[in-house]
Amino acid sequence: MTTDCIFCKIVNGSIPSKIIFEDEDVIVFNDIKPINPIHFLIVPRVHIDSLAACDVQHQALLGKMLLLAPKLAKEQGLIGFRTMINTGREGGQEVFHIHVHVFGGGEQLPKL
Ligand code: AMP
Ligand code: ZN
Repeated sequence: MTTDCIFCKIVNGSIPSKIIFEDEDVIVFNDIKPINPIHFLIVPRVHIDSLAACDVQHQALLGKMLLLAPKLAKEQGLIGFRTMINTGREGGQEVFHIHVHVFGGGEQLPKL
């Protein structure tokens, strides 16, 4: 737990969120400012600043987070979806607690 981290506060329940899945390692909740009709965030319970702060000890956790994306996307009714991990301020990261964005369900997503 990092005291000023908004996602740690969601993990410990002190900030409400619309949780769609949780287990001992991760919590998954809807993004407060969705960019598509379905947009959720896969967040580890443990505080890790970003993908750049991960190393081999996080391999299983990262794999688990990625494998949850298609499972939960399907449960949310998505056929196709996009995953995104913003890393560092220059990479568009605003919340410095690693998370995987999963979104889709509107128009076909534009090619990047
Ligand atoms: P990023 O730019 O990758 O760090 O994404 C942070 C995401 O967290 C943004 O899409 C925000 O809309 C989302 N977000 C911020 N605060 C909350 C919150 N309290 N509940 C749900 N999502 C949030
Ligand atoms: Zn945190």
